[in-house]
Amino acid sequence: MSNEIEEIFKKHKMLNEIKNIKGYNVHERLNLYIDLGFKCNGNCDFCITRTKERYSEKRKTNLKNQLESLKKISGIYHSVEFVGGEPLLYCDNIRSMLELIKCQKKVIVTNGIKTEWYSNIDLLEKFDHIDISRHSIDDFENQKIIKSNNLLGLDDFKNMDNNIKEKIRINITCFKCGIDSVEKIERFIDVFKSLGIKQFMFANLTNLIKDSFHDDSLVEYTTNNRISDKEFDSWQQTLINKGYSLKKEIIGYAHFVKILEKDGITLVFKSNSEVNSAQTLINYYRENKCLLELVLAPNGDLFADWSYSQKIE
Ligand code: SF4
Repeated sequence: MSNEIEEIFKKHKMLNEIKNIKGYNVHERLNLYIDLGFKCNGNCDFCITRTKERYSEKRKTNLKNQLESLKKISGIYHSVEFVGGEPLLYCDNIRSMLELIKCQKKVIVTNGIKTEWYSNIDLLEKFDHIDISRHSIDDFENQKIIKSNNLLGLDDFKNMDNNIKEKIRINITCFKCGIDSVEKIERFIDVFKSLGIKQFMFANLTNLIKDSFHDDSLVEYTTNNRISDKEFDSWQQTLINKGYSLKKEIIGYAHFVKILEKDGITLVFKSNSEVNSAQTLINYYRENKCLLELVLAPNGDLFADWSYSQKIE
């Protein structure tokens, strides 16, 4: 292990968290992402499903193959996260898959599509966490960003059952002229806290480099609208100075996460400021058959990365 890798592992307390399963060095909190497909009621400018491979065979949903793969990897993952596109447009597929999934934590990420939300409350109740993407306090502004008028509004949050509210984390993508300051973050938290929501994640736009995977228009949008790493990271320190405490730091693929807490409110900050060390780590994982994340593609193939380049056989 190189000194650089050893330092990253030590810094993020990862040395004792790797175990060998089926020939892979697997992180003990391995998360399985289930990519259901790119169908969505929205069309956000920063949507990372806008890849050049969007219409390739890997992105075509095949439930039978996904179920087969799930049977093969039973027991190796700690948590599972359903993503899309918009997962609630694939409710029947989710129901079939949940029958095979046994793990510590089940998460679904949705934009809060209103009609599907209300007709699938029984399904949502099966999840431990429900992540709702929402990028403005104002309903109309949020609809404009996601480009859909079929989304949960502030009144829907207000009237939700408490057992659902407790599972909700609001995921906010930060970008210039959107949620782009500590003051706006605090206002966002205050409004949703008054509606009974206690968990929030603030993420900077992904630092995409021009390559063959993402659409050029997406790379251009994220380059022009990202908050600078320095500024984004300074917000966390400002909130710590205002009484939040830093509870945990976690490393992922090309992102770093800090968890802050105050008075029962949990904030997750997802930044890409340490992208260089993330790249070192990714290379190390590739060379040493390490798995930190696992992605089940819509066609049923399993990959160790989001660009679907490292297929797991
Ligand atoms: S809601 Fe999510 S999946 Fe849908 S377009 Fe926006 S970012 Fe993409």
